[in-house]
Amino acid sequence: MSKPKYHLVALGCQMNKSDAERLSAVLEKAGWKQTADEQTADLVGILACAVRQSAMDRIYGKLRKWQLEKAKRPLITLVSGCILEHDRKKLRDKFDIFLDIKKLDQLPEQLKLITQEQLIDLPSYFKITPKYQSSFQANVPISTGCNKFCTYCAVPYTRGRETSRPSKDIIQEVKQLIAHGYKEITLVGQNVNSYGLDLKSEIKFPQLLKTIDRIPGNYWLRFVTSHPYDMSDELIKEMGRSKHLTNYLHLPVQSGDDLMLKKMNRHYTIKHYRQLISKIRRVRPTIGLSTDIIVGFCGETAQQFTNTLKLVRDVKFDMAYLGQYSERHGTAASKLYADDISKKVKSKREKVLNSTLETTALAYNQQFTGKTIKVLIDSAKKNPFGYRLKGKNSEYKTVTITTNRDLTGQFVPVRITKALAWGLEGELEPMKLTKTEKRAQLAQKLKARRSSLADQVKRQPRRVKINKINVRYSGKK
Ligand code: SF4
Repeated sequence: MSKPKYHLVALGCQMNKSDAERLSAVLEKAGWKQTADEQTADLVGILACAVRQSAMDRIYGKLRKWQLEKAKRPLITLVSGCILEHDRKKLRDKFDIFLDIKKLDQLPEQLKLITQEQLIDLPSYFKITPKYQSSFQANVPISTGCNKFCTYCAVPYTRGRETSRPSKDIIQEVKQLIAHGYKEITLVGQNVNSYGLDLKSEIKFPQLLKTIDRIPGNYWLRFVTSHPYDMSDELIKEMGRSKHLTNYLHLPVQSGDDLMLKKMNRHYTIKHYRQLISKIRRVRPTIGLSTDIIVGFCGETAQQFTNTLKLVRDVKFDMAYLGQYSERHGTAASKLYADDISKKVKSKREKVLNSTLETTALAYNQQFTGKTIKVLIDSAKKNPFGYRLKGKNSEYKTVTITTNRDLTGQFVPVRITKALAWGLEGELEPMKLTKTEKRAQLAQKLKARRSSLADQVKRQPRRVKINKINVRYSGKK
C-alpha cells in the first residue's frame, strides 16, 4: 500500500520554517510521505504567522480552498504556528487538527482520532530530529517563545515565554550537520541574544557561539533574530573573534524615535542602538547590516517618521524589511493605541524609506565590484545559455551568475561585475581546490595512468618497460 501524502505551507519567519521541518519528521515517522503538490496531498497543513494581518488573510484563503477540496475528496487539514487567541477561537473548529507546536509529540494522537493509525512514541519538541528541507542549509532552533512583550507583537501570547534548548543538544545537532557536509547553519529563535537566561546552569549566547565556532569544518554560521536590548559587549566581542560567523547582522530597530520605541515597549533608546552599531563596526568594519522597521505605528508624527529616516541615512543600512503597521487583535497595542495613521500616509512613508534604502544599499554593494568573493549557491534555473545560479555571500547579498553546470550547495568564487541596490551580479572564477580535493584529483590521475600503462603491457609485453611513477604532491594551494 502506498504511503499517504502530506503538504505543508510555512508562513513568516525562520522559526516557522524550522517548526515545519520538525512537523515533517513527525509525520514521516507516522508513515506519511511529503509532496510538493498540494492537489495530491491527503493532509495539508499551514504554519501560521500572527505578526502581519496579510499572513492571517492567507490562512483564511487556504482554509476556503481546502474546505472546497474537502467536499470533493477525503482531506485532512492542519493548522499550527503562531495564532492569537482571537484567531484560535475562529480556527479551532475549521481545521481537523489544531496543533500547539510545542506539543508536537501529541500529533500522532490527534491523527489517530481521524485515521485510526497506530500510535507512535515521540520525544518532546526540541528532541525531535527534523526532516531538513535542504542538504546544505539548516535552521537550528536554540530557543522558542519570547519574554519581551513588544506591544505590536503576538509571539509571547502565541508561543509563550522564552524556553532555551539545552546547549548540548544544539551542539550535537550542529556537529552532525557539519559532519554531513552542511555549509550554512543558522541558529534561530525569537530572541537568540537572550539564549540561556531562563536556565541558571546553562551557558549564555556568546559562549554557545564560541563553542559552535570551534567545531572544525567548511561552513558558515548565522543567527537570527537579535534584540538590541540583549546585544551584550561580550557577544559583540565574540562576533569579532568568530571564524565561521558570516559578516552579517540583522538587528531590528523598528523606529528611529524614542517615544515610538517606548510605545512599542522595545526597552532601548536610539542612542543605545547607535552605540551598538558603532561597537559592532569596530570589530567588523564591513559588516552587512539589516533591520526591521514598522511604518506608521500608532500616532507616528511626521517628525517621528523623519527621525526614522535620519537613522536609516546615518546608519546606512544595506537592507531593511519594512512593514506598514496593521493592528493585530489581542496585542497590547490594539488595546492601548489607535491605529490612526492612514493607509495613504503609511504607503507614502514606506516609499520614502524604500528610496533612501536603495541609495544606502547600492553604496554598500558597490564595494564588491571587481572583487572575487565566496558565494554559497542555493538555487539554479536552467536556461538556453546554461544555468542561472543564485546564492548568498557572507554579507547576505543575493549574487547571480550564469554557468554551464549546476553548482547548488557549493561554495564558489565569484568575481562581481555589477552592483545593484538589491543584489550583485558576477562571473564564476576558476575554482581553487582544497588540499583534499587536489589529493583526490592526483590519485585519480595516477590510477588512470597506471591502468593505461597496464593496458600497453598487455598488448606489447616484451617491448614496454614501466618506469616507477613518481608523482609527488607539492602541498601548495
Ligand atoms: S522581541 Fe518583540 S517582536 Fe520579537 S518576538 Fe519578542 S515580543 Fe515579538
